[in-house]
Amino acid sequence: MNPASPVPRRRVAIIGAGPGGLAAALAFHRAGHEVRLFERQEGVRPLGGAVLLSLPVLSVLRDMGVDIRELGAYGVTEFRNHRGRLRARLPFNPRAEARAGLPGWHYGMLRSAAVERMLAVMPPGLIRAGKSFARYAETADAVTAHFDDGSHWEVDLLVGADGIRSTVAQQTFGELGLFHCGIQVWLAWCHCDDLPREVGWISHSRTVQASFFPILHEGRPAVEWWLVEPWNEGQRFDGDVRAHLTQHLRGWADPLPRLAAATDFERHCFRWEIYNRPALASWSRGRVSFVGDAVHPVSPYAAYGMGMAIEDGWWLAKSLEGADLARRDELAQGLAAYDRQRVAYTNKNAKIARHMGHLFHRTPWPLSALRDAVFDHTPLLEAMLVENYLKDAEMQMETLPIAAH
Ligand SMILES: Cc1cc2nc3c(=O)[nH]c(=O)nc-3n(C[C@H](O)[C@H](O)[C@H](O)COP(=O)(O)OP(=O)(O)OC[C@H]3O[C@@H](n4cnc5c(N)ncnc54)[C@H](O)[C@@H]3O)c2cc1C
Repeated sequence: MNPASPVPRRRVAIIGAGPGGLAAALAFHRAGHEVRLFERQEGVRPLGGAVLLSLPVLSVLRDMGVDIRELGAYGVTEFRNHRGRLRARLPFNPRAEARAGLPGWHYGMLRSAAVERMLAVMPPGLIRAGKSFARYAETADAVTAHFDDGSHWEVDLLVGADGIRSTVAQQTFGELGLFHCGIQVWLAWCHCDDLPREVGWISHSRTVQASFFPILHEGRPAVEWWLVEPWNEGQRFDGDVRAHLTQHLRGWADPLPRLAAATDFERHCFRWEIYNRPALASWSRGRVSFVGDAVHPVSPYAAYGMGMAIEDGWWLAKSLEGADLARRDELAQGLAAYDRQRVAYTNKNAKIARHMGHLFHRTPWPLSALRDAVFDHTPLLEAMLVENYLKDAEMQMETLPIAAH
């Protein structure tokens, strides 16, 4: 029995050391459980691109002991057309700022920096690298995770955090049903002087999005930028990346063309084709539950996939606080509470993000011209963004069960 915990110390296996798995591991460890985090790669290797994390995500990271000071740079997000005309400015919410004890809403940083901060507070030996999960076997009293090397570990709770092509989810829910979202994303970052700080743009031409946001790179101001374009499943890219992106940005408002010129494309540019899966109504079956992309991959239009994975890990442990994980009834109650807290919320975010991708990249002409005229000349886009995305996320921040800062 852990003296800090009123419930017995139980065993939790987490599959996948992405942001969701790392967060779940930290949260269950802090709740007093015996945790092992299994990762199939030889180490924890965060993808090198940049990421935006919002106040609720930073708040739960801090609640798990992660040092978030000087981790990222914040800015106000503006939507513009490709010539720089302002369409919408996402306001900050003073109540959310007060609750978090932090200014702003989104913070830009390198994924690797966020992951390093999580690893800095991870107890030694908790992560088992080079362990590829193969399958699990469940009885009423336990669930056993089996690995490709023939080893296994019996636990009270198994958490699938193994990303969009999750082996754990496949065994639990059957075929994943992944479908292509009709877009691909180029994500890059660079150092570039004379840029406005504390502001980021999401700007659109008729079919392409090009955007930037301030980040911190090893304490120094830098900038992430990304470009979203329509793309079909199976379409090959074998061109020159610099030429491709520079061509796209010809004629766009400053600073976007300058950012492409300042980028080291060999080392600091990444390409993703975006896939989603059909929404699930529940993420928990018996002694198995999930976090992150394994159950809700999301288009980058939400800027929230890593963030939601981290929040999931924290909420999963929170929902099971006080439950004896060995007892099936207590476990079921906690997992049902977790599902209520997270499933509808993340499904809604994934759906809205996918629709935004369609709206901006797959709307046929002349509807796309009409769309742009409406967004250029009316407040509709701002109203849509506040209603569909910001309102719920801010409510989440305002009601987060954490100590006030
Ligand atoms: C272009 C783009 C931009 C994005 N921008 C943002 C953003 O601004 N903000 C944001 O919050 N999110 C963003 N995201 C989303 C974010 O990167 C993902 O949602 C996030 O990484 C999901 O985390 P995860 O832990 O669920 O899964 P993953 O990060 O995919 O981690 C899964 C882990 O499981 C391991 N694994 C897989 N199979 C096995 C197995 N069989 N055995 C053991 N280990 C296994 C993998 O090696 C991996 O380490 C973006 C995504 C894209 C594509």
